[in-house]
Amino acid sequence: MSAELMESLLFAYFGTRSPYWKLSADSNALQLAGIEGIPNLAVALEPAEADGIRAFTGVTSHAEVEVMLFGEPQKLSLIGKKDGAYSWSGTASDYMDTPAVAKDLTHGLEFAEQVISEVNSLVVIIDHNFNILRFNRLCEEATGLREKDVIGKSAHAFMAANERDASRSNLGQFFRDSVSYEVERTINTVKGPRLIKWRNKFVQSGSGPDERYLVCSGTDITEERKAQARLIELATIDTLTRLPNRNAIHEKMAGFLAEGKPFGVLFLDLDDFKQVNDHYGHTIGDDLIKAVALNISRSLRDGDVVARMGGAAFLVLVPDSSVALLERMAQRIIDRLKAPISLGLIEIYSGCSIGIAMSPEHADTVDQLLRCADTALYAAKDAGKRTYRVFSSEMDSKIAECIWLDVNLRKALESEGELQLYYQPKLCVQTGEVRSVEALLRWNSPERGLIQPSEFISYAEDSGLIVPLGRWVMRNAAKQAAAWKAKNLDLRIAVNLSARQLASSTVVQDFAGALRQSGLTQCPLDIELTESCLINDAVSAHSIITQFRQLGAQVHLDDFGTGYSSLSQLARLPLDAIKLDQSFIRSVDENVVSQTLVRSMIAVAKQLKFTVIAEGAESQAEADFLKAEGVDFIQGYLYGFPMPAKEFEDWLNSKGRKLRLVA
Ligand code: C2E
Ligand code: MG
Ligand code: MG
Repeated sequence: MSAELMESLLFAYFGTRSPYWKLSADSNALQLAGIEGIPNLAVALEPAEADGIRAFTGVTSHAEVEVMLFGEPQKLSLIGKKDGAYSWSGTASDYMDTPAVAKDLTHGLEFAEQVISEVNSLVVIIDHNFNILRFNRLCEEATGLREKDVIGKSAHAFMAANERDASRSNLGQFFRDSVSYEVERTINTVKGPRLIKWRNKFVQSGSGPDERYLVCSGTDITEERKAQARLIELATIDTLTRLPNRNAIHEKMAGFLAEGKPFGVLFLDLDDFKQVNDHYGHTIGDDLIKAVALNISRSLRDGDVVARMGGAAFLVLVPDSSVALLERMAQRIIDRLKAPISLGLIEIYSGCSIGIAMSPEHADTVDQLLRCADTALYAAKDAGKRTYRVFSSEMDSKIAECIWLDVNLRKALESEGELQLYYQPKLCVQTGEVRSVEALLRWNSPERGLIQPSEFISYAEDSGLIVPLGRWVMRNAAKQAAAWKAKNLDLRIAVNLSARQLASSTVVQDFAGALRQSGLTQCPLDIELTESCLINDAVSAHSIITQFRQLGAQVHLDDFGTGYSSLSQLARLPLDAIKLDQSFIRSVDENVVSQTLVRSMIAVAKQLKFTVIAEGAESQAEADFLKAEGVDFIQGYLYGFPMPAKEFEDWLNSKGRKLRLVA
């Protein structure tokens, strides 16, 4: 045994130079304990020394005290910390260099423990009795409690009552198993209840079961859970109407299908919603959508679900439905939406079309069912809007036809020779001459042969393909006019433009481009518009007509009498001619009503200084009547069918350019 050890009073009495010390809150007696079998010893501390030790927190600290040991003054170096609600403990030593060692040691420990204090998560260390040993700075901030006040207190105090009981009952087992785990617990903080995700790990500091500690590090996930809840909401709720959205209703339908529950759907789309948006702006458009959502919701029974599918489209899921019930519901919604909707000072006349489909009758997957409902909706729109249609398999063939047209019209536009212009002569009643023709589009499909415009123009209009198609017509008509001009044939060619084309921003440019490409200095093309072109947007129609006329084209109003343009509107438009629709010309020589109508239309046109053209004259008697009433030009099978350019030239040559009006 070294002389140094021999000199140590501590070793002599406790059998160790670093006995264990303990101090309580209510006594200044420092308890010292040595190796097993040696009785504990209590030594008195000065009150100031005792208070100095009681200032120790959960972070290991160091203090020097002087005590009387067996009548001898003895300097002790104490290293320790607060270990319970009312107790402090650690090890004492009498090394001469203890202060230096202790300083280094406490420095190191302090640093490590300071890290625990300052880490950016909540850290609580709990002993096997579930009492708190450490409570770091973030915990202090979150709870408003001081570490020194909670050390030694039960961690259960921070738990919700129900969680506390459960935790208490498995505590023993829990410490024995020592399996790390994660748990989410709501704790009361100065900011109110917060959801904390705790990652809990057991650490063993000595060998005994009592020296097993639970280190809990927690992160506040309250906001994250809220960012998540909002995401879930965004994924399932339509933000404008607060109705379930497409995803949500998809899931609902999938659930019904999986459970084999029969149900029906109403696929609803507002009619002409784009016009409302264009006319009144998106804010009113949005308000209308909200009002419509409310109107639909009010038309439903308990258990029916309405969702917004996007745009102005809604889907209603109706459990346990029959065709009759779905039809009644559809009619009720249509009737409701026919009534004007007041949005502030504005009253909007809305209206909707509805497609109806049912499961299992029509489909057994969500996608199929939606396709059926969509097809039926399309059919309802096609039938004139503000009505409903129940899906039928014949509708499917209509869709297939649209797909065929879409694919093949695009191909036709790119291929040479599939599209062709036919020319039909217009006769000048005064002179019997042919000075102008109408260009009428034909499609020579490699698959189906010659296709008339009635079979593809309306699809081209719906799909927007009419724009490139119209461009093709203008270019080829201008080219043909140039070719005829080169052969000394001065013919004006009228091309048809539909409302959809007129709405295209490039239509005047396209027209000017076609003229430029033809190389002609004088414009040989005229334009035929229908009344529908004027109704949708009279202001821009007026401007476009003016631009065409400035480019040298005459503008003719086609199918006159079949549309709804008012006489006052007609009077304001800078038109050159009206073309009486062929429905008035049919048997006009015999039909008194047609005669009256034709006479009045001619009278109005003459008053407005418009040229009058009649189309569809098939018999001499019809032509005679028109001539007698003062029509300027006549077009019809009586004189000539629409013909390809070469055939038309031959026809014209055979007639010697001048036709006798009276056969
Ligand atoms: P539309 O412009 O009113 O053309 C007159 C239609 O009446 C043409 O039918 C013509 O062949 C037909 N027709 C002419 N005379 C008679 C007759 O005496 N009796 C009968 N029964 N019919 C006669 P088509 O060529 O089938 O064209 C139908 C419609 O397709 C056209 O009506 C026009 O609206 C549209 N269309 C034709 N080509 C084009 C085009 O290039 N672009 C656009 N947007 N529409 C076109
Ligand atoms: Mg026409
Ligand atoms: Mg016409």
